[in-house]
Amino acid sequence: MARVRNWQINREMSYWYPESRPKRQFAAVFDTNKCIACYPKFEIGEQQQCFVNCIGKIRMAGTVSLPGQARADNPIDYLVHIRKLALPLFPQFGLEPNVYYVPPIHVPRPFLRQMFGPGVEQAIETYRGAADDPDLAGLLSLFGSTARVVPRWQRHGDVVVGFDEDGGEIVRVPLHEPVFIRQAFDAAHGVVRTNVPVAIWRATGPTRG
Ligand code: SF4
Repeated sequence: MARVRNWQINREMSYWYPESRPKRQFAAVFDTNKCIACYPKFEIGEQQQCFVNCIGKIRMAGTVSLPGQARADNPIDYLVHIRKLALPLFPQFGLEPNVYYVPPIHVPRPFLRQMFGPGVEQAIETYRGAADDPDLAGLLSLFGSTARVVPRWQRHGDVVVGFDEDGGEIVRVPLHEPVFIRQAFDAAHGVVRTNVPVAIWRATGPTRG
């Protein structure tokens, strides 16, 4: 395994990939002083703008109850308290953060346990089983489906419905949608289009999605 110098913490460390380290990498800078969590939007029942814009549909905003008052029909309660799929970051600090993460499944487990605590193993198993878990898959399909905050949800067969607090329907989405799998390697641009480590991509070949 290659060794590189991590300039952020000023020490040598292993580099998982066989390639030489790229000279440039994707980077993003967030000015945390400016983010107000779009609170004026949340006050009128709308999700944060970057949640709405997220093309990967990975985000959902709402309210979380105390553990003893969790409701299965509250999407955030269901993910955080009931299924324990969405985990707080660094729970050992006891900060009760209000940002929860569905942990990444390809990251080394010791690092994940440090970040998300001992519940990360079960969360990953739960996530891997989502394809055969209609309720969980259904709720995940509500992510990114509406600009409104969805306080309540239900699955009716192959349809998942989001409601407001008064039971009014906000949105409905199909449980199953067509899936289009791109080639893992984009030869035109010379890049790998998945989050699977390059070594695995090489083992499985460029035609596998
Ligand atoms: S769009 Fe996102 S990053 Fe920008 S203020 Fe709203 S919550 Fe913060």
